[in-house]
Amino acid sequence: MEENIKSSKLVLHTCCAVCGAHLCELLKNDFSEILIYFYNPNVHPKEEYEKRKEAGKKLAEIYSLEFVEGEYDDKNWFELVRGLENEPEGGARCPICFEMRLKKTVQLAKERGFTHFATTLAASPYKSEKIVDELAGKIAREFGLEYLSTAAIGALDKKEIWQKTRELAKKFNFYHQNYCGCLFSQRKSI
Ligand code: SF4
Repeated sequence: MEENIKSSKLVLHTCCAVCGAHLCELLKNDFSEILIYFYNPNVHPKEEYEKRKEAGKKLAEIYSLEFVEGEYDDKNWFELVRGLENEPEGGARCPICFEMRLKKTVQLAKERGFTHFATTLAASPYKSEKIVDELAGKIAREFGLEYLSTAAIGALDKKEIWQKTRELAKKFNFYHQNYCGCLFSQRKSI
């Protein structure tokens, strides 16, 4: 990573600690400050949200990073995806879900004077890196921030990411969810 980035500050939007640990490993020496932002009002039910949040807090503790929880505004989330309840995971509902979370991440980054942001969303083997990167790039341009894709961070290959994330999850004994997060993805996983 370039020398001038090392004095910069990055917000890492984290949807799960499992993928977050791998990105933290890659990023930890490259920024003067990293903040873990847990903003995931898509996660349903609230008990599941709490489990993922606790795992996110544990991740922040392990890497000595600040942890910030966003608002659990699930009503807004349901409103945004209304009419798309029957879409499959990876369908038309997901970009809306990504955009909501990425926009809030960038707003927090701006408020706090951070210069860069990244997200675990693109690290997941179940999500389209291309869609996440395009949306994040668009939002970054709108708000005048730098977006670091997982490829730019050094996580190039989904298979390798998957292997590394599993190793770290085991090492740190992180909670590992078995569905993407929303009510509709939960139904499909039952
Ligand atoms: S399947 Fe996952 S990414 Fe898609 S809308 Fe549900 S929680 Fe969001």
